Amino acid sequence: MSWWLAARSIDHVVLERGEVANTWRTERWDSLTLLTPNWQSRLPGHGYEGDDPDGFRTMQETIAFIERYASLVPVSVRTHCPVTSVRSIGDGYQVVTQQGTWRCKAVVLATGAFNIAQVPKLSAELPSGIAQLNAAQYRNPEGLEAGGVMVVGAAASGAQIADELQRSGRPVTLVVGEHVRAPRMYRGRDIQWWMDASGLNDERYDQVENLRRARSLSSFQLAGYADRRNIDLNSLTSLGVKLVGRLAGVREGKVQFSGSLRNLCELADLKLNRLLNTFDDWAAANGVSDAVDPAHRPEPTRVEASPPLGLDLGRAGIRTIVWATGFRPDYSWLDVPVVDLKGNIRHDGGVVMESPGLYVMGLPFLRRRKSSLIDGVGDDARDLSAYLASHLGAQCTGK
Ligand SMILES: Cc1cc2nc3c(=O)[nH]c(=O)nc-3n(C[C@H](O)[C@H](O)[C@H](O)COP(=O)(O)OP(=O)(O)OC[C@H]3O[C@@H](n4cnc5c(N)ncnc54)[C@H](O)[C@@H]3O)c2cc1C
Repeated sequence: MSWWLAARSIDHVVLERGEVANTWRTERWDSLTLLTPNWQSRLPGHGYEGDDPDGFRTMQETIAFIERYASLVPVSVRTHCPVTSVRSIGDGYQVVTQQGTWRCKAVVLATGAFNIAQVPKLSAELPSGIAQLNAAQYRNPEGLEAGGVMVVGAAASGAQIADELQRSGRPVTLVVGEHVRAPRMYRGRDIQWWMDASGLNDERYDQVENLRRARSLSSFQLAGYADRRNIDLNSLTSLGVKLVGRLAGVREGKVQFSGSLRNLCELADLKLNRLLNTFDDWAAANGVSDAVDPAHRPEPTRVEASPPLGLDLGRAGIRTIVWATGFRPDYSWLDVPVVDLKGNIRHDGGVVMESPGLYVMGLPFLRRRKSSLIDGVGDDARDLSAYLASHLGAQCTGK
């Protein structure tokens, strides 16, 4: 956004509570690599320049990449400057920080989508001897107590953490809810190549049938490992990970699971096949079928005939629970009444219609399917900076 505001000669400041690339420094586990290939971290005015476009960045490389980008943007970031309040004043806003107060005509909220871990209330009923942490607190297998681990959630974070823990010798039970199965490679190309080339990543928020659902979908079961291995449920089962259905309750120290595992896996397989059909159709329509490997379909997800409906954590040797159940944004410092009861901001493609001059970005499917990817923010920032410029223009001319 700063790059686009500078390109439009709009005077602005960028306020950051920590360091540049703060979330990548403080909220990610040690072995994490981006699940998007290097070529797919395009930011305004900046493409990939290295010699490994198909590789996946480590956290250190990701931090260095964002730091470098920040140094290319004309306005430098004011770090260690937490915003504690934003309120409407006259025809603009007052922004209070620990480094002083600003008055401005417009504010862009770019504080991230993944601030507060969404941990189910029943976590409070679990036996006190079981250690609990969320995906942003997890660092590595050595940091956990000895013994088995229950990982709750089978999106990208949960599946990656389950893969790492099981490989480290910990027996893992993976609690599986609704999930999005995706192969790393399809017909010899990376899945992100297909998402990008077929235009699916560019699908707009005003083109999808059910936007609320599209915005709440979990991430692809995907990892950016050098061997390009899958981390879908079949791969995890082959490693020895035990699959169970959604968490349904806790009674007398025993955890109960719903009987939905088989249905959820069938649904994920069905949706995966639909996605692959879309790729095949696009390849045929665009004359690239011969340039890629032949079409194929992955083996359906293997689920045992009667997955357990309950588990005594103590008897099963489970000492730790990792909650990989998603995150939500934190707007506790926003004193403008535009947040709904679930804590989500009401906006139309990032424009907060109820409060002129207020914009938000970095949220899932904000304006496009790719909005919550590094690769997606550039186009969103371009669009939103145009709205912001026209808002300032209208204020100047009094319209
Ligand atoms: C585990 C995980 C893995 C991911 N992997 C990938 C991937 O492989 N590829 C990809 O493209 N995307 C990935 N993402 C998504 C990625 O996080 C987003 O694409 C990207 O971080 C969005 O950037 P952002 O600047 O909008 O938000 P964030 O990175 O969350 O940055 C928000 C910033 O706002 C600051 N902030 C928050 N509140 C305040 C305040 N009150 N005052 C001042 N500053 C504040 C924070 O310190 C932070 O630096 C991943 C996300 C997670 C959680």
